[in-house]
Amino acid sequence: MQDMDYYEILEVSRNATGTELKKAYRKLALKYHPDRNPDNKEAEENFKYVNEAYQVLSDDNKRAIYDKYGKAGLEGQGGRSGFGSMDDIMDIFNSMFGGGGGFGGFGRQARRDPSQKYALDFEIELELAFNEAVFGCKKEIPITYKIPCDDCGGTGAKNGEMTTCDYCNGQGQVVMKQGFMTFAQECPKCKGAGKQIKEKCPKCKGDGYQEVKETITIDIPAGIDSGNRLRAQGYGNQSKNGQRGDLYIIFIVEEDEHFIRNGNDIYIEVPIFFTKAILGDKITIPSLQGELELDLKVGTQDKEQFVFNGMGVTDVHTKRKGRLIAQIKIIKPTSITSHQRELLHKLEESFGVESTPHKSVLESAFDKIKGWFN
Ligand SMILES: [Zn+2]
Ligand SMILES: [Zn+2]
Repeated sequence: MQDMDYYEILEVSRNATGTELKKAYRKLALKYHPDRNPDNKEAEENFKYVNEAYQVLSDDNKRAIYDKYGKAGLEGQGGRSGFGSMDDIMDIFNSMFGGGGGFGGFGRQARRDPSQKYALDFEIELELAFNEAVFGCKKEIPITYKIPCDDCGGTGAKNGEMTTCDYCNGQGQVVMKQGFMTFAQECPKCKGAGKQIKEKCPKCKGDGYQEVKETITIDIPAGIDSGNRLRAQGYGNQSKNGQRGDLYIIFIVEEDEHFIRNGNDIYIEVPIFFTKAILGDKITIPSLQGELELDLKVGTQDKEQFVFNGMGVTDVHTKRKGRLIAQIKIIKPTSITSHQRELLHKLEESFGVESTPHKSVLESAFDKIKGWFN
């Protein structure tokens, strides 16, 4: 990207409008953002070029100079030389797009020190019982986080002694050639730090960290579902300057034997004996908010659903409540006594022609199929 024209870098035409530029910049800046490309020197470089291109083209005055005289015309005008530090670029990026929490903590991690030997954020999985997830809870969670090794100051080197990386000569990157294109890549040996360990620190065996155990208490909001991710700010690994990253908790919610959850809706199957389905009755069923009365009408059908709005799970973001859906399952006896058989025969007879819908309803279909086979 280094030798590309600013318009090419942003993938826009030479007469792109301000809105088009901003859109293109946003797309590419997010693509190459260091938070999305950890430990990727090439992406970081591209991120810088995209920012540089946008800074020039979004300023009418600079753009006019650039159009006429190219990059040379901008020297000393806050062109190339003005965008050296990653922090400046992050400030520009964050001022445009809100930064901070907007992209889940973009910005802080981007100022990563390449000599930082471990990521500051980390993830754990946490199992919750069905009711803990539905109603929310306070959880004590044992975690293990990393702090820089105090013997080597987090470098992983004995007495903190480092030498220049012999692979990249301290550049932190190596230039690759592919056809007529050249691009810089992060040095595979020193991972961009430009330095290498002379002798491994005996305490941490070169890892640069020690592990610390801690039990933290986290408030878990109502409505958490499996796969949800919660950011516990400041519970991540500790950097050399003492700041802690973030802990991300991924939830796994246990299933309940009666309540089946589908997002914020809860399903419950209600088994009903066939006589009750015919006679009707008032029964009570369990719900998340206690007992509910269900009014079974005469002739309740199998799989019939009773919907209770606002009786489901609280949405973790909107706090709106889902539905409780009670579904009828008609249970019939699989064996009967001779006395029951007698009673049922009597019952059937009392219904007359209504008891033979397989004949009366299908009458015309019988006539039709006779025609087909003649
Ligand atoms: Zn190197
Ligand atoms: Zn050490």
